[in-house]
Amino acid sequence: MKTDPHTLQRRRLATRTAFFALFVLAPPLDILRLDLNLGHFILFGHDWTLGIDGFIAGRDSTAGMLVNLVVRGFLPLALIAGGLLYTAWRWGRLYCGWLCPHFSVVETINGLMLRASGKPSIWERKPLPELRADGRRLRPNRRWWIPTALAILFFSFLWALTLLTYLLPPAEVYANLLHGEPTRNQFLFLTAATSVFVIEFTLARHLFCRFGCAVGVFQSLAWMANPRAMVVGFDTTRARACQACNNACDNACPMRLKPRGLKRGMFSCTQCGQCLSACAGVQRPHRRAPLLTWVDGERALSFSEPPVARPTSARRPA
Ligand code: SF4
Ligand code: SF4
Repeated sequence: MKTDPHTLQRRRLATRTAFFALFVLAPPLDILRLDLNLGHFILFGHDWTLGIDGFIAGRDSTAGMLVNLVVRGFLPLALIAGGLLYTAWRWGRLYCGWLCPHFSVVETINGLMLRASGKPSIWERKPLPELRADGRRLRPNRRWWIPTALAILFFSFLWALTLLTYLLPPAEVYANLLHGEPTRNQFLFLTAATSVFVIEFTLARHLFCRFGCAVGVFQSLAWMANPRAMVVGFDTTRARACQACNNACDNACPMRLKPRGLKRGMFSCTQCGQCLSACAGVQRPHRRAPLLTWVDGERALSFSEPPVARPTSARRPA
């Protein structure tokens, strides 16, 4: 796959932005939500029940109820989970890197913290080099802590509010909020969820992507099970070129991984391609091909097993 540094990341920004908008707007547009008042899902404006009401009321037989459960409950879930796992098995955590609304926040806050402190996370030991892969210099400025804190607050509240609209009628939630009159339970939910997200987005956003998110972990397990799956590959025959580089690929990774390492150390790789774009940016002025590219099939096998050169020191991820 071509790894033009700008095109790849622009495409990803477009898919992430579109999915984030869908995530926020799905409940108010009645695309998908669970209405706790009604006790069932709303899907594309239609009621989506498990179809067991008739059985409870004595109208349907047991067989009819079981068919309804399979068709309306098990089958859609199995199709969604199967599609996600198959995609991950072949191409890795594409959902995380290209769509997930949580990962979008992770990357946004990483970028702001980088501007404020030179570190993409408060757990990073040392500031990253000021020289970026695209040749620009990024000098940390403490004033960026203000937009960083505001962004954490904004995204935390937005996430809390959005989750609430997945559970209660969005028109009611938004109207109550606009009039400054949320119900007691709505207020408690918004306060508690916003507080949890502030802590998570500030301190543990990578940790959540690695171990806290079931969607992410199951994708990683499916990906790991396939040694021929698409993976970031490193051209070891040109490893010497890395000596003239400040580890731009490592510095660019939002998950704080070592993209030149073995696949087993890349369990939480989101296939965001930031490392590929960074290497392409470094090599572009020299008119050389990047050393990092996505590989799959037989070519991916050598990155699932040693030996692969790791020319630079490792940093502990956040
Ligand atoms: S290793 Fe590369 S593709 Fe994977 S998460 Fe890090 S930057 Fe993204
Ligand atoms: S793989 Fe590319 S970006 Fe990474 S250290 Fe080597 S030259 Fe730099």
